[in-house]
Amino acid sequence: MKQKQRNSRVLLIFTGGTISMTEDIHTHALVPLSYERMLQLVPEINKLDVAISTLPFTPFIDSSDVEPLFWTKLATAIYDNYAEYDGFVVLHGTDTMAYSASALSFMLGNLAKPVVFTGSQIPIGMMRSDARENLLTAIEIAAAYDEHGRALIPEVTIFFEDSLMRGNRTTKKNSEQFAAFRSYNYPRLAQAGVDIKYNTHLTLKPEAEKPLELFTKTDSNIAVLRLFPGMSQSIVNAILNIKGLRAVVLETYGSGNAPSHKWLHDALKQANAKNIILLSKTQCPVGRVAMGRYQASLNLLDAGVIAGSDITTEAAVTKLMYLIGHYGDDVATIKQRLTQPIRGEMTV
Ligand code: ASP
Repeated sequence: MKQKQRNSRVLLIFTGGTISMTEDIHTHALVPLSYERMLQLVPEINKLDVAISTLPFTPFIDSSDVEPLFWTKLATAIYDNYAEYDGFVVLHGTDTMAYSASALSFMLGNLAKPVVFTGSQIPIGMMRSDARENLLTAIEIAAAYDEHGRALIPEVTIFFEDSLMRGNRTTKKNSEQFAAFRSYNYPRLAQAGVDIKYNTHLTLKPEAEKPLELFTKTDSNIAVLRLFPGMSQSIVNAILNIKGLRAVVLETYGSGNAPSHKWLHDALKQANAKNIILLSKTQCPVGRVAMGRYQASLNLLDAGVIAGSDITTEAAVTKLMYLIGHYGDDVATIKQRLTQPIRGEMTV
């Protein structure tokens, strides 16, 4: 695919994380840098044929402190600046980056421009940091348009090491290696080597004439329940009876299986009858929930559990937050939308 940089305008949004840090020479503790200092540490940025503007979210945060309100702020910043820029790069901590990228994918409807999240495993101010490569390549991707003026990757993505992945398909899989993220169930959207090779046939296809839509309402009354052998009835019941609980992401075995205990079946059935939404996703990073394949998932089917196909936990949680935030008590619509991809987050 022929790319044209056409002096794109990219907005760099700084939010914090390891990428924005350096080591204090006296205490050896990691301390945050200003965004101006960060940019000075990557002078090559000025050589890119891209007009870069900056938007620091201060104070910088460790991404462990990310909350839905932060996603609202981020999505609103992109929405407010959408007409001014061709692409957006979000510098973010790695720990919850997959949640943030998933959340943003749901919050931004009809997105026709690139929103690329990146960060680093080693602070930008330290030797051998991966920040420089990640940042420069993320900017290039955010600025990449074809000869018809269409963004090559009009989606919310994560770029890390050499891979560009759909954000809501991605999981942090390694806390030590530079390849920190992986999209297990969807091929990468681009690979950076000597050149950046774009797989444009794999991207979402926005209707360019439709305006960007912003959806920022969320509901966090969600639990994640990971099944394990020996799981106690009282704990499961306690979770399913939490006051105000709206939905549970059930992390099931293999292709969506669960123990056949009658008490579990009854508890899930009762929860479903109380309009608590039950979404099954597999504990296996690769593969999908296919309920009914084994006897061990028939009870779940009967209890009204919805199959989440190959959705990640990060996408399942944020999709539920978004759907419940927007459809409220319309449980039938929420359940229907859970069976279909909204932003390419699952395979049907
Ligand atoms: N704790 C850091 C964060 O997520 C880790 C990182 O950025 O790699 O903000």
